[in-house]
Amino acid sequence: MEGPFNNKALFLGPKSENYDFFRKMLLFLMDDHAEWRRYFHPDDAPIVTEEEKGQKDFLDTLQQTREALVDLAGQLQESSTPWFSPRYLGHMTTDTLMAANLGYMLTILYNPNNCAYEGSPATTALEIQVGRQLASLMGYDPQRAWGHITSGGTIANYEAIWLARNLASIPSAVHACHPELVAGLDEWQLMNQTTAEILDLIDRVKEAGVFEEVRQHTIRGKGMAGANLGAVIVPQSKHYSWTKAADIFGIGQDNLYFVPVKDDYRMDVQALKTLIDSLIAQRKPILAVIAVAGTTEEGAVDEIDKIVRLRDRYAKEGVAFYLHIDAAYGGYVRTLFLDEDHRFLPFETLDSEQKETGENGNVWLSKEVYEAYRAMAHADSITVDPHKMGYVPYAAGAIVAADRRIIDVISYFAAYVFDRSDDNPMLLGSYILEGSKAGAAVAAVWMAHRVVPLNRSGYGQIIRASMEGASRFYHSMLNMSPIVANGRRFHVLPLTRPDINIIDYAFHEIGHPSLQKMNDLNQDLYERCSYKSGPLYTNEFITSKTALTKEEYGDTPLSFVRRFGIDASEWAREGSVTVLRSCVLTPYLVNNNTYETYWGTFLKAMEKAIAGTGR
Ligand SMILES: *Cc1c(COP(=O)(O)O)cnc(C)c1O
Repeated sequence: MEGPFNNKALFLGPKSENYDFFRKMLLFLMDDHAEWRRYFHPDDAPIVTEEEKGQKDFLDTLQQTREALVDLAGQLQESSTPWFSPRYLGHMTTDTLMAANLGYMLTILYNPNNCAYEGSPATTALEIQVGRQLASLMGYDPQRAWGHITSGGTIANYEAIWLARNLASIPSAVHACHPELVAGLDEWQLMNQTTAEILDLIDRVKEAGVFEEVRQHTIRGKGMAGANLGAVIVPQSKHYSWTKAADIFGIGQDNLYFVPVKDDYRMDVQALKTLIDSLIAQRKPILAVIAVAGTTEEGAVDEIDKIVRLRDRYAKEGVAFYLHIDAAYGGYVRTLFLDEDHRFLPFETLDSEQKETGENGNVWLSKEVYEAYRAMAHADSITVDPHKMGYVPYAAGAIVAADRRIIDVISYFAAYVFDRSDDNPMLLGSYILEGSKAGAAVAAVWMAHRVVPLNRSGYGQIIRASMEGASRFYHSMLNMSPIVANGRRFHVLPLTRPDINIIDYAFHEIGHPSLQKMNDLNQDLYERCSYKSGPLYTNEFITSKTALTKEEYGDTPLSFVRRFGIDASEWAREGSVTVLRSCVLTPYLVNNNTYETYWGTFLKAMEKAIAGTGR
């Protein structure tokens, strides 16, 4: 162990190993909160009297609450997914940090609403702190940046599109009502101002005292009619929130462009360049490019460094666009690369560190992924979900933007001044997409960051363990001998080497030519290893699945299908390949004995499931 803590003391544990501690803390927080109530005007007489508490209708009422709770507990126990167990390798969900859960439970008793400072003095301040912490994590200057908690990555992505859209409509709006402030710029140039140029323009517009007037001439005043915003470019591997965003924010599906991904499921940067060139040739402006750090289906990390270089080169040629990183899933991985003073570590130091401690060298961390994370600091904004790799309970996503001046393009309140370190917005709800929202969720994130710092010896340790577990899982699959069932031999192939900690894989009867047969088998395996088959409390192994379709991915999955010896004509006919998908978030698969035990469990479960399908 190299950090200030032991991973095993952070979670309740698969066997509730830390129950004693958790229970003590629960009692503490209840006692503490109860006292807080009693000491608010201690002389006020109690309204609920001891006498009344003994009456029948009173007792009956309490009994109703008890029964409802017992009923709920039963429903939850019967059908919940045991995220905490290393037998669960499915969706982007796992055990949550005790610190976060306790913070949530304590805070919910106070029920703060972070929409307005008045309703949440404590947790609004925590939200601003957490926003700065996440900005630092991404390599932004926390004094210049802006960040806040959302209910999830979807909402953070919406806010990003909202920011990009309103920002892009500023220069033309200035031109419409105060052309002298953008003198000499033609229409193409107005549509191709960089984020920094537009934010500086806003400063000049404010100095001229016409910002409100200009804003009325932007999309928020005039609507989308007549607006020519241009293209939003996303990789084929995008989360579906982007498709919804194009609809909600009036971008239109026709203006959403998809860049193919390569065999490693990272955006093909060469294809991105070709697409941008073709849009330029049509004189179609580009509103935004979205890159993904940790795709939802494959965990792939786009080559953000190359995309940043491309953006900078185009900007020099007079073609500018907003760059957002969707790191809803993968954002916290950046902690691996930060030392205790937020310095981004040289790759060589990570390497040697890994060689000293890692079982299998540095195989779980590639230079490409490292460079992508380093370059994130150059994006305009980033989505990052604490409720995914931050190991905190729902609902907590976040958005961070490099330059806080940007909030004025979406705010509905006088711009708020950030000139003190304790500056808390009076009405957070007027600077963000949402209104009322749980201060408890913010407190959970704050507690998590307080106990587990956002650097290599904090989250870095947990995530590194999860990535190493994923890497072991991947290598075990590569080296696994065929499973024999019903007299037939089946093998498994992983889709790609995991960039972080998600592995997609498929089983297939060796040499069988049919893709449909392979898809049916994996669909069956999924159903036997998921809630689809009913309550899964006795399941030996639980996973998730996804289908990589021709419609979404073009022919990229063909090379995977071919590796099973299946012909291209099969792919052309089926147009889809079903894969099992395991997000390895558990930090427990690094100890040799534990790993071997659960790998054995996986094998046994798969043997049984394949035999059970009768295929
Ligand atoms: C999960 C995810 C989202 C959506 O986040 P929610 O918190 O589920 O709303 C967006 N983008 C990516 C890449 C994701 O993995």
